[in-house]
Amino acid sequence: MSTTPHRPLLEIRDLRVAIEDKVILNGIDLTIQPGEIHAVMGPNGSGKSTLAMTLMGHPRYVVTGGTILFDGQDLLTLKPHERSMAGLFAAFQYPQEIEGVPLGRFLWTAISTRRKSGFDSGYPRDLMKFGRELHAYLESVKLDPEFARRNLNVGFSGGEKKRSEVVQMMSLRPRLAILDEIDSGLDIDNVKIVAESIQRVMREDFTILIITHFPRILHYLEPQFVHVMVDGRIIHTGDMNLALELEATGYEGYLQDRLPPDRPAGPYHH
Ligand code: ADP
Ligand code: MG
Repeated sequence: MSTTPHRPLLEIRDLRVAIEDKVILNGIDLTIQPGEIHAVMGPNGSGKSTLAMTLMGHPRYVVTGGTILFDGQDLLTLKPHERSMAGLFAAFQYPQEIEGVPLGRFLWTAISTRRKSGFDSGYPRDLMKFGRELHAYLESVKLDPEFARRNLNVGFSGGEKKRSEVVQMMSLRPRLAILDEIDSGLDIDNVKIVAESIQRVMREDFTILIITHFPRILHYLEPQFVHVMVDGRIIHTGDMNLALELEATGYEGYLQDRLPPDRPAGPYHH
């Protein structure tokens, strides 16, 4: 993979992140080439969601050091909506409920804004076509078409929220989809439905960073790389076999090697 002539889609170097002066990410290095699927696994509290939030530019997560390049561009200079327009998408672990914003209108607005700003990933050009496409996406994750008119995530069950996130991903056609525990709270059948819907929109250059505790969804998505995150660091990288090993043995073996944080939070010094 390192011999690929592509420019990496995502290049994270020595990323350090703090929340309210507490160091959470302790020097993350991660390079993702276009079209690759990477999985991040790790115990609760190891910083996986913090990585997802930081990539999307959540203001609470303060980058104290390191760099993130997205397709060669300095991601850290972009505002959250600019990151999203540039092709970054995240399905968060705990999707927010947004009153007064129906799913369909939200997506149509997002698509229209992208097109006006010159980011057109082949979106449907009129409302009729958009409606048909959205209907098909909802159907593919076994959500009733009426979900298009329901306020974003309001009153959705845990599983419906996750499937609605997948519909958003399908509709927005990101270049990099960060899926934070998209499979948690889904029963076995729904994990399969979600995985197959993701597969349906796979294109050659569609790139996925999936955070999960369970290998089940990985059997469908077949990541080339599986990373173990502990204490805000990626301490081991392997392939699908690593995910299976973790399922069998847990993180115990990795926790024994855990390193103390080597730098306090604060302004970044070279
Ligand atoms: P993971 O997703 O791997 O379970 P998180 O990234 O959610 O881990 O959390 C990593 C650490 O950061 C945890 O110790 C958690 O308590 C802390 N943390 C995460 N979000 C916040 C927040 N908004 N405020 C304070 N601490 C937080
Ligand atoms: Mg998390």
